[in-house]
Amino acid sequence: MTSTPALQLRKAQHVVVFTGAGASAESGIPTFRDELTGLWERFDPAQLATSEAFRADPSLCWGWYEWRRHKVLQAQPNGAHLAIAELAMHVPKLTVVTQNVDDLHERAGSQDVIHLHGSLHSPRCIDCGLAHTLPLTSEAQPEDGSRIEPPRCSACDGYVRPGVVWFGEMLPEDAWGAGLAVAQECDVFLSIGTSGVVYPAAELPLRALGQGATVAHINPVRFDVSSQEHFLEGPASVMMQSLLREAFGNHPDS
Ligand code: NAD
Ligand code: ZN
Repeated sequence: MTSTPALQLRKAQHVVVFTGAGASAESGIPTFRDELTGLWERFDPAQLATSEAFRADPSLCWGWYEWRRHKVLQAQPNGAHLAIAELAMHVPKLTVVTQNVDDLHERAGSQDVIHLHGSLHSPRCIDCGLAHTLPLTSEAQPEDGSRIEPPRCSACDGYVRPGVVWFGEMLPEDAWGAGLAVAQECDVFLSIGTSGVVYPAAELPLRALGQGATVAHINPVRFDVSSQEHFLEGPASVMMQSLLREAFGNHPDS
């Protein structure tokens, strides 16, 4: 390795920022691997995030997603989301590819965001696929652990399901195609707050590396990476802000 991620960022034409649940952790959105608290502690999130779970107990599954959706509505973008949006002002092109189902990148000001795993804010009918609109208010925070009957589709009366990609489901083809294309085209690839175990998303850093991009991982918990990759150990907000400072100084236009 001859250069640092900050130096490469200065020369970059196209930066991809790839995020996982860890990028939203400092906004108070729990990752799947965090200890759950309260009544949800009794459930394994991976067991609630499947179509089988929804069909077996729609109210339990919908209650869990409504709880998560309200947590996101109440949350604010953190320093990492803001630093990513600011980075876009310094480089010719920046694409965010996120595994997150929240909208915190958009609310921080990022414009080019690919959602590989869908969104908590785009539910649809489980039978006919018709989009369903939910109120964008955080007033009625459901109690944790509570069951909520899902709404019904206005066209076919089927249950409305969360607009996220569940375990065992295919990624949306257009999002995956776009994510793969930018990973293979970029010159710097920053992978932030992802444990790299959820496939196929976890392939993206490898694809970027394979095409010669500088790849850096940001995570407070160290894991093994190849000798060609960089590891920046620390929370996303701290590491992103210091990377931005190191590469471009303190001012957006410096
Ligand atoms: P994951 O596999 O992406 O793992 C989370 C990673 O974040 C871990 O490696 C952890 O060490 C790291 N992390 C924790 N705090 C951090 C911080 N402050 N800064 C940087 N990194 C930090 O995610 P998961 O929780 O195992 O979830 C699996 C799937 O579910 C993914 O698609 C994930 O994105 C999705 N999910 C999304 C949200 C959300 O939209 N906010 C929340 C939970 C899960
Ligand atoms: Zn329907």
